[in-house]
Amino acid sequence: MDASASNVASLQAIDDLLSYAGLRREPRQRRDGQRSTRARPERTQAPATQQQAPLRAAAPEVLRAEGLANVGIAHGFSTRAGGMSTAYSLRELPGPDRPGELNVGFTAEDVREHVQGNRARFLQKIYGAVPPMVTLKQIHSALVYRVDRAQADKSTTLAGDGMITDEPGLLLGVTTADCVPVLVADPKRGAVGAFHAGWRGTVRRIVERGVGRMRMEFGSAPEDLVASIGPAIRSCCYRVGDEVEAEFGSQFLYAEKLFSEAVEGDPVREKYPMLFLSARAPGHSGLGPALHLDLQEANRLQLLDAGLRAEAVDVSGQCTSCRTDLFFSYRAEHGVTGRMLAVIQAPPRA
Ligand SMILES: [Zn+2]
Repeated sequence: MDASASNVASLQAIDDLLSYAGLRREPRQRRDGQRSTRARPERTQAPATQQQAPLRAAAPEVLRAEGLANVGIAHGFSTRAGGMSTAYSLRELPGPDRPGELNVGFTAEDVREHVQGNRARFLQKIYGAVPPMVTLKQIHSALVYRVDRAQADKSTTLAGDGMITDEPGLLLGVTTADCVPVLVADPKRGAVGAFHAGWRGTVRRIVERGVGRMRMEFGSAPEDLVASIGPAIRSCCYRVGDEVEAEFGSQFLYAEKLFSEAVEGDPVREKYPMLFLSARAPGHSGLGPALHLDLQEANRLQLLDAGLRAEAVDVSGQCTSCRTDLFFSYRAEHGVTGRMLAVIQAPPRA
C-alpha cells in the first residue's frame, strides 16, 4: 500500500471508530465543497432478494468528445451514473437508498448480470441498440489487434490493450478506472481504434504503436485522424514512484515535462490534529515533495509524435480520482471499485 492509500485507510479507520462511538460521521463532500447532486433512483418496493435485485436506475450518462462527434463517429465514455450495480455505491447511503451504478467491469465484487445489464444500458443509450462489441483482457501491454466481427462478444477474449478495425458498425470497448482511455478515428477510411493506456502501456507507447498499425492496416494518414483522450487520473492525484520516472526517462526525450513535484498534506493530521499533539515537530512529518505524472499529456504527445494535428486531439479535463462522485477510481478507492467503458464504432455502411 502506498503512503496516500494508507492515509486514507487510517482516516477511514478513525471515521469508523468515531461512528462506532456514536459520533456523527460527516457526510461525504466533493472537493469543491458541494454535496453531490447526482440523481438518486426512486426507492423500489422491497424486493425478495435484496442483494440481487437491480434498482430502478436513472439513464446512464454518456460523455462525448466534440472532435469525434463533429466527424460523425458514434462513441462515448461512461460514468458511474445510471446503472444496476450497488457493489461500490457510496457508503453513506445504506441499503435501498444506494443509487444503482454503472459498473461495466466483471469485477470480483459485482454481480455478473448487473455488469452485463449495465453494458447493454450504456450501449442502448448511445446507439439505440446493442451492436457487437470487441473488448480485450487488458494486461497493461502494448499489444494492438486488428479485430473483426468474429471476435465480438466472446467470453474468452484476446489479451492486450489496443484494437483497431474498419469493419462497418463494429464497436471497440476499453474499460478503465484511472487508466487513460484513448479513442482514435479515421473518418476517411472508416477505421477506428481504442486503447487502454495505464503507465505501463504508455511507457511502451501503445497509442503511438496503435496509430502506426492504423497506417499499416488501413492506409490511414495521421493528419486525417481525430482522437479523444478520456477521463483518467490526472496529475493532481497521480503520485508515482521514482522507478516510474526512470522508465519514462529511458523512453521519452520529453519525459521531464510529464512529471511535477507536489508537497502533499496529511489528511489524517488535518482532520484530527488532536491525535498528533505529541507527534514530531512541524516540518518533520517525513513527507517530502511527491512526484506526480501526467498520463493524459504523455498520450497526447504520443498522438502528436504519430503525426496527428494538435487541434484534432481532445483531452478530458476531468480527474477520476478527484471526482469519485462521477467516476470509479482505482487509486482513490484502493482497488475496490468498478470500471467505466469507452466505446467507439466504425462507421456503419451507408
Ligand atoms: Zn485529481
